[in-house]
Amino acid sequence: MKGLKGKNVLVTGATSGIGEIIAMRFAQEGANVAINYRKRLEDAENTEEKIIQKACGNMASCGVKTLPIQGDVSKEEDVINLIDTVVKEFGSLDILVNNAGIQKECPSHEIKIEDFDMVLGVNLRGAYMCAREAIKHLLSQNSPGVIINISSVHEIIPRPFYLSYSISKGGMENMTKTLALEYADNGIRVNSVAPGATITPINREWVDDPEKKAVVESHIPMSRAGTSEEVAAAVAFLASDEAAYVTGQTLFVDGGLTLYADFREAWSA
Ligand code: NAD
Repeated sequence: MKGLKGKNVLVTGATSGIGEIIAMRFAQEGANVAINYRKRLEDAENTEEKIIQKACGNMASCGVKTLPIQGDVSKEEDVINLIDTVVKEFGSLDILVNNAGIQKECPSHEIKIEDFDMVLGVNLRGAYMCAREAIKHLLSQNSPGVIINISSVHEIIPRPFYLSYSISKGGMENMTKTLALEYADNGIRVNSVAPGATITPINREWVDDPEKKAVVESHIPMSRAGTSEEVAAAVAFLASDEAAYVTGQTLFVDGGLTLYADFREAWSA
């Protein structure tokens, strides 16, 4: 896709699921990729190997650089270090993908406040801190840049028993729009990609259970769950020059989930 070759990209939570596939997609487009991981270096090295294989077959002949970086996005000092390290190692940061995310199921009247804070701390506060540090860097270089926030259909669909998750993604929508408006004049574009039900480890409860999977898919107008590759394609588009005039938007990659399958049949006179 236009304008991605040679760009420096940071993907948070890049060692599994959607983040890993986004990292691979950028490498395939010829971009250098910083792979943020929270805990295990082995996971990042594993992702690094897959990225190199996918992008160019082997490490020796690969023009694309990869950089595993440890950091918990809910911790301010880790986030500052994350952006500093990318800039130091790659020379600059052009594209940030705020992908790291967690969820916790609980009836809303019983949520422990530490759990509430933890989900908001990663999904919203963490994404904001990464955006803040990336924007500081871009402004200091007088460079254009792109921020993509991985949101969710729950940006607009309420999700009972997952209150903190819903709030975090709803907040992300406003953050995307506010940052897009505030920095449009600086050439910094900010958009969200909102996946629907996507086959990744976060959904291990239903992806490996055919009956539960069928129930999930019955709510999706296109009658199937999505893939991380389909999400990554939207991210690559929004980060590329093909989307040079797009900012402040959410692109739903959800097989029509936000159109509400239950309303397919006429339900009122
Ligand atoms: P996943 O569990 O495979 O990936 C989440 C990643 O975030 C993991 O690599 C994890 O280590 C990382 N992470 C968690 N806490 C972190 C922290 N504090 N600091 C750094 N990294 C951290 O799940 P996924 O489905 O690939 O989710 C990726 C994103 O997509 C999330 O933001 C999620 O909300 C969003 N999303 C997923 C779906 C879906 O159906 N899979 C749907 C909508 C939105």
